[in-house]
Amino acid sequence: MSVTGLCQICENAPARHGCRYCGRQVCRDHWNEAVGACTPCAESSGVDDSDGSTG
Ligand SMILES: [Zn+2]
Ligand SMILES: [Zn+2]
Repeated sequence: MSVTGLCQICENAPARHGCRYCGRQVCRDHWNEAVGACTPCAESSGVDDSDGSTG
């Protein structure tokens, strides 16, 4: 199963990745490689580089 269609965020670029959180397909510009999710989910997730969480 391959990702086909346009980015569901900007709808201007071909989708390259499928977010496992919201399930929508996004282009590279809206993909956060570090988090492994689309940019909205990555930001909402609150993932930060700072290491200050337990567990
Ligand atoms: Zn996009
Ligand atoms: Zn997402």
